[in-house]
Amino acid sequence: MISAKQINELNAFKAAETTVLTAYLELNQNPLAQFRALQNGSKYPKELRADFERIEQYLKSDSPCAGFKGLALFSSARFGLWQACALPEPVGCRLTLDERPYLRPLLSIASTYHRFGVLLVGPSRARFFEVFMGQIREYGELEAALDPAEPDLALRLKSRMDLITERLEGLSRNQSFTRLVLGSSPELSLSLVNHLQRSLQQNLALSPNLEPEMERDEVLATLSSCERESRRGKERLVVQRLIDCASNSGNGALGLEKTLEALQQGRVKTLVVKDGFARMGRSCSACGALYLLELKCLGCRRPTQAVFNLVSDMMQKVYDRGGDVIRLLTDTPLDNLGKIGAELSLAPINRNAPVAA
Ligand SMILES: [Zn+2]
Repeated sequence: MISAKQINELNAFKAAETTVLTAYLELNQNPLAQFRALQNGSKYPKELRADFERIEQYLKSDSPCAGFKGLALFSSARFGLWQACALPEPVGCRLTLDERPYLRPLLSIASTYHRFGVLLVGPSRARFFEVFMGQIREYGELEAALDPAEPDLALRLKSRMDLITERLEGLSRNQSFTRLVLGSSPELSLSLVNHLQRSLQQNLALSPNLEPEMERDEVLATLSSCERESRRGKERLVVQRLIDCASNSGNGALGLEKTLEALQQGRVKTLVVKDGFARMGRSCSACGALYLLELKCLGCRRPTQAVFNLVSDMMQKVYDRGGDVIRLLTDTPLDNLGKIGAELSLAPINRNAPVAA
């Protein structure tokens, strides 16, 4: 699991030279073959050999990505950077070389997930977990039975709560949890909540589905299902806003054709797409413009070539222009409106934003 600290470090990383390789790969295909295909036709400086070897080695090994859909790799052997991050959603295939890691796809996905701190408290012990983007990490448990040597029951309870909340507050601070979830009996929950700092209380949810002795995988499944449920509501709002934009103000596009047209005009602020939606299309070999069917580019009149996943290429273009991509994981009314749409700006946006190689 990538920690909040590691994401911050990637964000702040800047090498003195153009030596940072970033690879995004899709795990439904052979990632090693994809990685090699991405290098085809490009010449990379031989100083990067160590980076290419390290990435190949990682892809050949049993990487911990089973059950994930995408993979992001960041490498600059020369300046001491290496980070691999499994992604619960695919973001297309791409290889960039720059002074900085290319983070937009990773950050776009990460921003749609909560980083949960989970606390399970039973009669004799307390367990602590972090859940983020479909992965779970367990921190060492705390033996927190009541101290039999202390005759005053209220004091015994208080010292136990102190131990647990101190640990939770420390973890929450270090790991930057965005939500806390507590699984415990109602009486224990109440005294724990009263013990917590106010800022943590406000972020806390009690889960009746979590139990102190649950297996790690069960904790992950419970949290994932809660997150999916809350996501369902958010995604419905996103789609409703998109439909309003398209019907009232003309600042929205619905369906592949209209969305593609807006993309060519550089007007897409936020692309909204149903997870798994893909179409073949065409791309201009000279200027990179994307089309559904055109055999000749409407801009530069050069021939176009077939692209396997037009939707994935559209997402890349939106990222490059500084726009955002929202992938819908649940069923929404957009399923019946072409599965893709975009919120638009009136004029072309951010044409001068730096474009990754
Ligand atoms: Zn063209």
